[in-house]
Amino acid sequence: MLILNALIVVVSAIILVGGLFVSFRIIRILRNYNLGRPWIILSSFIFFFLFGYGYIALRFLGINLISGLSIENLMTVIFLFSAIFVVTLSVLNLNLMRNVFGSGISDAEALNKFAQYVHMPVRKVRALAKRDYAVNCDACNMAVHYSIPNVVRAHPQIERGVVVDKGMGITSYRLYVRHFCGNGFREIPVSHDHKLEYRAKRPSRLV
Ligand SMILES: [Zn+2]
Repeated sequence: MLILNALIVVVSAIILVGGLFVSFRIIRILRNYNLGRPWIILSSFIFFFLFGYGYIALRFLGINLISGLSIENLMTVIFLFSAIFVVTLSVLNLNLMRNVFGSGISDAEALNKFAQYVHMPVRKVRALAKRDYAVNCDACNMAVHYSIPNVVRAHPQIERGVVVDKGMGITSYRLYVRHFCGNGFREIPVSHDHKLEYRAKRPSRLV
């Protein structure tokens, strides 16, 4: 019997349960944005780890629930799943950072991406896009400076940051300008005309 080892494994399992509760909270937040699935998978990994920890703790106490399952085999599988778990978590974090701080592409690349997305020749975009636009935040009243590359960078999925509105032969572009407002990010939808001139804004929302 390895009582101390069993105790440490039980403490580890309790810490894991804490992690499980945190994952559940993350799922509850992300569910509304249809982004919860990776965290549901991570939570099932944690369930598997809990089973493994429990099984090993019992084995340390001399109780063998599944006779065909050796500690060596179980440890091997736990190592494999731990590696997958860590990689998945890192990728999710990377995506989150990119969403918050903007993916690290240059101004030229961002303008290319914009041109491709709105079907405008990139030379025209470069000629029309100003380096700096400003709009007043309706929540904090501060002047928020932005550029098209900023908006593109802040939205790795460009369709979330740029919307092309076509009506009665007139094309306009809705840009979602992200700005850190007080204690959270807000997005201000601004309208730009076909010459990429600022036209109007709509009420901002928290993101
Ligand atoms: Zn603000």
